[in-house]
Amino acid sequence: MRIRVAAAVAAIVIAATAAAADRQDPHQLARDLFKELIEIKTTESALGSTPAAEAMAQRLRAAGFAAQDVHVVGPGGRKQNMVARLKGTGRKKPVLLIGHLDVVEALREDWTVDPFVFLEKDGYFYGRGTQDMKDGIAIMMTTLLRYHAEGYKPDRDIILALTADEEGSNANGVDWLLKNRRDLVDAEFVLNHDGGGVIVENGKVVQVDLTASEKVYADFDLTVTNPGGHSSVPPRENAIYSLARALDRVAEHDFAFELNNVTRAYFEHIAKRSDATYAGVLRGLLQTPPDPQALQQISQDAIYNAIVRTTCVATRLSGGHANNALPQTARANVNCRILPGHSPEEVRQELVQAIADPTVKVRYFNFLTEQLDDVAPNVRGYAPPPLRPDVLKPLERVAAKMWPGAPVVPSMSVGASDSIYTNAAGLPTYMVSGSALARDDVRAHGQDERMGVQAFYSAVDFFYEYLRAVVSYK
Ligand SMILES: [Zn+2]
Repeated sequence: MRIRVAAAVAAIVIAATAAAADRQDPHQLARDLFKELIEIKTTESALGSTPAAEAMAQRLRAAGFAAQDVHVVGPGGRKQNMVARLKGTGRKKPVLLIGHLDVVEALREDWTVDPFVFLEKDGYFYGRGTQDMKDGIAIMMTTLLRYHAEGYKPDRDIILALTADEEGSNANGVDWLLKNRRDLVDAEFVLNHDGGGVIVENGKVVQVDLTASEKVYADFDLTVTNPGGHSSVPPRENAIYSLARALDRVAEHDFAFELNNVTRAYFEHIAKRSDATYAGVLRGLLQTPPDPQALQQISQDAIYNAIVRTTCVATRLSGGHANNALPQTARANVNCRILPGHSPEEVRQELVQAIADPTVKVRYFNFLTEQLDDVAPNVRGYAPPPLRPDVLKPLERVAAKMWPGAPVVPSMSVGASDSIYTNAAGLPTYMVSGSALARDDVRAHGQDERMGVQAFYSAVDFFYEYLRAVVSYK
């Protein structure tokens, strides 16, 4: 009896401490989570995702989330994922929040600071993952902890999935969850924190992105082989010359211009805030068919060009085996970003045609098997899902309050994210985040990755309000 009373008292004390922890200053809570995440080395070569998945699960349990609502699941080993559920009234189907725990490799010698020590300096947080995307993990965790501490019961369950292997390797957590534990992550729609964002130009917020479409990633291997021979009696042709010519044709080749509902809306918004001359150019682009001069001008801008067409670019090159021998092999990697609605195989065939040299083999690099395949996948990037009012309207409302004058712009990401898995599984996915970033300070995957301190705290405030508006949208 005494023991039972003591245990009950202890339980109350623990619950009270947990609740107190969640009611701490939300910025401090978010900062603590951010620091903890940055300092867990979730690269492929170090720890993988498991320790971070465990750490976040532990945080939620300590705050009083029920054991049956917090799961660490996956193929096992270093590639576990964390899935947690904040229970709502169940009036509507759940919303799923996703974010990846893994980060790209970072070498200490390439950075001016240690990439795996959380550092606040001159108004910035430094560390690998501060932009991509441990900021988002910390923000989503903070939001869930706050709702839970307040006893908030939304109209729909909010599911948070923190996952492995978005940046590469072969145990993609979102894919794994959809295939093996759909019960844990099934939802009406998905908010992916790995995109969207608040765009800053000359210190001013100019745009809030709602990313609802993205390109598909594909690598192609170009190989030319040759019997080789002595370099003192060279024939006119050799493997390196053939490959160089092929690459030249790839560089010259333009894939077809194309707009979809998202990129069309994007250019319409840009036109509205451009000066008269440029607005005219953009309107020319939006005509069907587009005005050829407008298209020519837009294509000169690398960013706009990547929005209106599939792009391919040579990224690696190797060949030959001795200074005094004719090359027996020459190889290049060509990296392509494919517009929604088109498949890697379609692009492979277009490259073969553009190269127009049967001695150049064009094969697909399969990143799952790390093999070269003669034929590329025929899957097409998902068509952009319709812009749901319960995703768009709250964004417009909260953005207008936090960043007056900056329009919400539907956009297409020229990279690729886990949204490809959720969209393919029939869960319409939107990328929204309140992290403000200057256009010229994008350091994801690069050196000295950093996030503005105020930008981070604003993003914490933003997501708390935004998600609440989404789940209570009438
Ligand atoms: Zn990312």
